[in-house]
Amino acid sequence: MRSSRLLEREAGRNLEVIWLLRGQRPGYRTIAKFRAENAVALRAANRDFVRLLGRLALLGGDLVAIDGAFFDGNASKSSVVTARRLGERLAALDRDIDAYAEALAASDASEAAEPAVGSVDPGAAMAALLARRAETAATLAQLEASGETQHCRTDADARLLSKSGQSLCGYNVQIAVDAAHKLIVASEVVNDGNDTGQLHALASAAKAVLAAETLRVVADVGYHNGETLRACEADGIEAFVAVPERARQLPAEGRFGLASFIYDAVEDIYRCPAGESLHPSPTRRLDATGKWRIRYTSRKARCRLCPMRASCLSPKRDRREVERWEHEDVIERHRARMAADIAAAVLRQRKALAEHPFGTLKCRAGYRHFLVRGFAKVRGEWGLMALCYNLTRVINIIGLPRFIAWIARLLVLAATILSPTRLCIPTTNLPKRQTAKKTPSGYPTRSTTSKPPQLRVLAQSRSASASTRRHHAPRPKHDVYSVT
Ligand code: SF4
Repeated sequence: MRSSRLLEREAGRNLEVIWLLRGQRPGYRTIAKFRAENAVALRAANRDFVRLLGRLALLGGDLVAIDGAFFDGNASKSSVVTARRLGERLAALDRDIDAYAEALAASDASEAAEPAVGSVDPGAAMAALLARRAETAATLAQLEASGETQHCRTDADARLLSKSGQSLCGYNVQIAVDAAHKLIVASEVVNDGNDTGQLHALASAAKAVLAAETLRVVADVGYHNGETLRACEADGIEAFVAVPERARQLPAEGRFGLASFIYDAVEDIYRCPAGESLHPSPTRRLDATGKWRIRYTSRKARCRLCPMRASCLSPKRDRREVERWEHEDVIERHRARMAADIAAAVLRQRKALAEHPFGTLKCRAGYRHFLVRGFAKVRGEWGLMALCYNLTRVINIIGLPRFIAWIARLLVLAATILSPTRLCIPTTNLPKRQTAKKTPSGYPTRSTTSKPPQLRVLAQSRSASASTRRHHAPRPKHDVYSVT
């Protein structure tokens, strides 16, 4: 249940919610405002929850699957204007204006220019058409100046996203899922429909949350990108990303693909399957993705006499060209990694990991769309969704009694850390009158003691939680007190 109006109603009739809110009945505006104003905190809540899960040994921290899914925004597809649509609308308006002008001219010629009583004023109709044209042209100019290809009038951050022949107006949610228990360890909401370029940001966020020295990440072919693979490698992240079909296109046609040409780093040449060398051209080329590429070319005379010519050259070419990105060694190492047996097993595992949270959220919980608009609020709402998923997942894994016991211990620990007793650690140095003062909670502070401050806090927290443990056995595998 996410609607603020439904939550307002439940706060007045659902006994569990009434208990949880201690009888408070916030209005829907208050609930919506709370959600909007605390978007950053809601995102952080899931991140902090994941960090705490490490103490329950629920995070593997070895393998993470990354995937993305489209979620509808709080805007309709018709509210999106694209440069193509605006161009078509301008052309249609121009045709209407021309046709109307011709009709007026014909009317003048037949001396029927005097409008009949109650008819439309021709001047006003033409002015309306011209105004609509000017508005459309201004929107198109604004769009071109912004460098964007589309603009959503309802939600400025939402975009028209298309995949597998289906389109929606919304956001692309990216998640990193830990392999141990399919928990979402990192996530982000973007409005780019293309997953390429998202790999490193998600992988490094997951690595930071898991506090791992190295991390293996697996993703589908949409994430294959040389720059992000290079960034992952630099950060100690071992990426397993499915190799795009285009690399297998030539072999499928019965011709030598790039993998058949061996690069010699010492001589800076490629060796073709016939053993001939392909030499680099002196100039580099900047491709559409901003990568510098070097072209290596074979000799015509050798290719003309080559017995493998039919398996190498297209009918129209008399020599072979191979392009190499300036950091192609990253791609080569990744290709070698993907050729190993373990890569196939990891890729199979990916489907069962990354699809699980999206399937659960969309199909079981019905979270298919966002209720709010704009990046800040949408990311906050997603943080709440991810937290709900993780919370439910943890309860399913460890069971409710153990989860309650764990939360109780955390609360005791938090209360201990934040309580005034924590602040009175140096009580031995305070005058007696101050140590006898009552804390804001009404309990007197402890008098001076011979125990060191940290031990004193630990002893208090153990004592305070003893009754809790008695009522909520069994204990978690990892004792939360170890953090102190
Ligand atoms: S056609 Fe040229 S590049 Fe291709 S295998 Fe033969 S010699 Fe090498």
